[in-house]
Parts: sequence; structure tokens; C-alpha cells
Amino acid sequence: MAAVTADQAGAGGLQGLGRAVILLGPPGAGKGTQAQRIAQRYRLPHLSTGDMFRDNINCDTALGRRAKPLMERGELVPDEIVLGMVEDRIAQSDCENGFVFDGFPRTLAQAGDLERICRQRKFGGSIVLHLVVQPELLMRRLTGRRICKSGHIYNIYDRPPKREGICDFDGTELIHRPDDSEAVIRERLLAYDAQTLPLVDYYRSRGLLRSVDAMPDADTVAEAIRKILDGAEAPQ
Ligand SMILES: [Zn+2]
Repeated sequence: MAAVTADQAGAGGLQGLGRAVILLGPPGAGKGTQAQRIAQRYRLPHLSTGDMFRDNINCDTALGRRAKPLMERGELVPDEIVLGMVEDRIAQSDCENGFVFDGFPRTLAQAGDLERICRQRKFGGSIVLHLVVQPELLMRRLTGRRICKSGHIYNIYDRPPKREGICDFDGTELIHRPDDSEAVIRERLLAYDAQTLPLVDYYRSRGLLRSVDAMPDADTVAEAIRKILDGAEAPQ
């Protein structure tokens, strides 16, 4: 992945935009990669609920103390705690120009609460980037994944190693993880659809949804996203 250079970074119109940028898309659509690029380019923090859980537990906050035993028992952390963490995080000064969220919200209730929190902070409506990829291509991307012990990632279709089954960097054997099998991935994609389609409808009905063709390579997708974000107007 090419790093964003200094002269590209911060060139867009998001400085002071005061909006949340939310990425929606199935596993394998490249949400994490694109969120990272948006964060670099527009100098916005890249938020994830995983980091928030860790920070709250490490800093022993009241919310962290409530979440910790639930997480240790593998139980679901209730929305009220998650939203408290989100609200606290967004109140920090690095979020005042906006932020990028990937992996949240996951439910309609969370989406409604996030919009409410953003309004309270005088943010404009969120910019929701819906990364759209054909299911067959997703299947190829996900089932083609191979990984070495050091974490170098390949794809036998799109990004094969020079020698079949061997890592280019360290010469170790590439592994096909059970999680990347077709049956497991089909389940994940079905679960994703059930969970996310209501969110897509919610944001679309509010005029906040921007669909992005996420089938091309990451640079092309990043460019399409840049056009959307540079064209977004600051809230009144
Ligand atoms: Zn390797």
C-alpha cells in the first residue's frame, strides 16, 4: 500500500468540516484500508470500538470497569456502555474537525444515537461511504487469502507470491486459514447482510449515503472517496 505523501495529505476540503465519516461494507471490501487512508489524508482520527474498549479498560474508567467483566466472560457489551465510550471519545479535541469510523455503528439504535451525539457537537450529518462489491468478487478476495507466520498477506488471484505457497519476504510456508474457507465466509457475508442492510436504508433515507464502487484496486477506490469528501460541503 502506498503511503500518503505530505503534499497530498490535508489537501481536501474536510479541514473543519465537522462531520463523521462512516464506512459501511462487507468483510473484504477494504473498509480498514480506506478508513486509514481517509484518516491520513484529512488528518482525522480513525476510531474503532476495539481501541475504545482497550483504552477505557487500561485507563480504568467507570465504563471500562463495567465492560471488562462482560468482555472477559465473552458476553455482549450493552449499547449503553459502547455509546458512552463513543461519546467520550468524540468529545476529545482531536475529533473536533471530524473523525473516521469503521466497524461502527452496527445497529439502527447505534446509528440513531451516533447521529444524535454528532448533532449535539454541532456536526453536520455523517458522510456514510457504502463500499459496494459483488459477492463473487468478495468470495475470491477472501478465499484467495494466504498468510505467512509473520503476517505477510497474499491473494492467490490478485496478489500471488513469486513462488507458489512461499512468502516472498521470509521464505516460510503460506497458510490458508480455516476462517477463510468458502463455507465460513458465506456465513459471515449472510450475517453481514442481515445486520447492515437496515443501516444502509436508514442512511439512504436521510440522504447521507454515498455508494462507492469498491471493486477496483485500493488506489482507484481511494480516489473516488477523495472526490466525494472534497465535494462535501461544511455544515451551516
Ligand atoms: Zn512472510
